[in-house]
Amino acid sequence: MLLDQPGEPLRVGEIPDPEPRAGQIALRVRACGVCRTDLHIVDGELTRPKLPLVLGHQIVGEVVSGGARFEEGVRVGVPWLGWTDGACRYCVSGRENLCDRAKFTGYDVDGGYAELAVADERFCFPIPEGYPDVEAAPLLCAGLIGYRSLRLAGEAETLGLYGFGASAHIICQVAVAQGRRVFAGTRANDDATQDFARSLGAVWAGDASAPPPEELDAVIVFAPVGALVPAALRAVRKGGAVVCAGIHMSDIPTFPYELLWGERVLRSVANLTREDGEEFLALAPTVPVRTEVETFELERANEALARLRSGALRGSAVLVL
Ligand SMILES: [Zn+2]
Ligand SMILES: [Zn+2]
Repeated sequence: MLLDQPGEPLRVGEIPDPEPRAGQIALRVRACGVCRTDLHIVDGELTRPKLPLVLGHQIVGEVVSGGARFEEGVRVGVPWLGWTDGACRYCVSGRENLCDRAKFTGYDVDGGYAELAVADERFCFPIPEGYPDVEAAPLLCAGLIGYRSLRLAGEAETLGLYGFGASAHIICQVAVAQGRRVFAGTRANDDATQDFARSLGAVWAGDASAPPPEELDAVIVFAPVGALVPAALRAVRKGGAVVCAGIHMSDIPTFPYELLWGERVLRSVANLTREDGEEFLALAPTVPVRTEVETFELERANEALARLRSGALRGSAVLVL
């Protein structure tokens, strides 16, 4: 499925089979998760995609050739972080997620909305046993970046998750297993999503723009909605943190300094490091995290994106090959 231009639907196309270069592996794609970042690329909110582009950065594939690290036939996962220079000030200080020259899967290089893919083997992960392909795919971005956001939210005992989609439904399970109390913020009157959040252990679920029933230690904002930032700051106690997990957000409205006062912290989370991935993929089976997925054939990628856009999905959308 090819993106020719932002603003246009993806189209079915034939391109030459990708050839792995040194250090790369070739994969037969078995499943690929659909991420909100894909929507931001389609909508032109991320402005520098390779074109034409194969989207998709939550790839579960089977190694068909190349590489020293993985044997043929092994299942591997390909995440958003596809390559770093290993040399810039961020890479050499353990923050490769911020690499100046990073290349991202399904943005700078072709991704997994396709039958075949290639990837730098150093940035791939073994898929944990016990996860079918479609249930593993959402772990690779919704899970990994959600996990980094959770880590950067600190030692929160009361944790808000605003925007209860693919990431939040995974991180809710991790947070509950860690003994935190989760407060799920959704669109107003979205009873189905609020019920879903409670079924995964949230102690409260309600309208994210309204105050929660008690002060929170931290809020992770997954929804790409800037207006939720002041709402989240209003919800956290002194010294609390608001973490914005998405790559793009609508403008944040002005708000009184009083909302930030009291040593409240507002920060974003960008991308992932390989260490985040290794940690999270080791943790997920111990929780155990169960992902809820809605599957689509590859040719129905536009429909999957439309359902993500409208908020109609429960959990994650995954393309199946
Ligand atoms: Zn993603
Ligand atoms: Zn770098």
